[in-house]
Amino acid sequence: MFVVSLDEDVCNGCGLCVESCPARILSFNDDEKKAFISGDETECMGCEACITVCESGAITIMEI
Ligand code: SF4
Ligand code: SF4
Repeated sequence: MFVVSLDEDVCNGCGLCVESCPARILSFNDDEKKAFISGDETECMGCEACITVCESGAITIMEI
């Protein structure tokens, strides 16, 4: 099982991770201009698509 976490302080607001996630657990806060985890972080499939597109290194995946 994988768990995803996202450091909103590090996020640069590019929004690329949101569309990249096949599990649809990442969303974008238009007011804050930051991505956030809107779904169940344990539904992460560990595909690393979000990490690949994230240039700021804001996203971490942990296998538990
Ligand atoms: S890809 Fe990274 S920097 Fe861009 S919105 Fe997602 S978490 Fe933020
Ligand atoms: S690793 Fe894959 S499933 Fe998990 S949050 Fe990132 S894009 Fe979504």
